[in-house]
Amino acid sequence: MLILTCPCCGIAADETELSPGGEAHLTRHGPGSGDTDFEDYLFNRENARGVHFERWRHAHGCGKWFLAARDTVTMQVFGTYPAQTTEPPQEIRDRITKARPGWRWRDFGAAE
Ligand SMILES: [Zn+2]
Repeated sequence: MLILTCPCCGIAADETELSPGGEAHLTRHGPGSGDTDFEDYLFNRENARGVHFERWRHAHGCGKWFLAARDTVTMQVFGTYPAQTTEPPQEIRDRITKARPGWRWRDFGAAE
């Protein structure tokens, strides 16, 4: 069972208390961007096998959104952090690199 610690209220919540919100750290391009950029934002996802960053909502708890880094194969959780964060905190990236040598931020999906 997937257990994520909500960074907003500090409760270790199992997946029945959470609602998934899809991939985290998507880039929404502004006015003047092309249709391809908007299409990427709307429809294209990494669907990574391995390290993945996701949005979750503590639906049956504090109700707030947060982000989580986990491995989609082993279900190992590397950490959770506030939804307002534009990229994973260095501490979480270090944890991932320690567990998956060779992994790099924005290169996820390529390394397992
Ligand atoms: Zn919470």
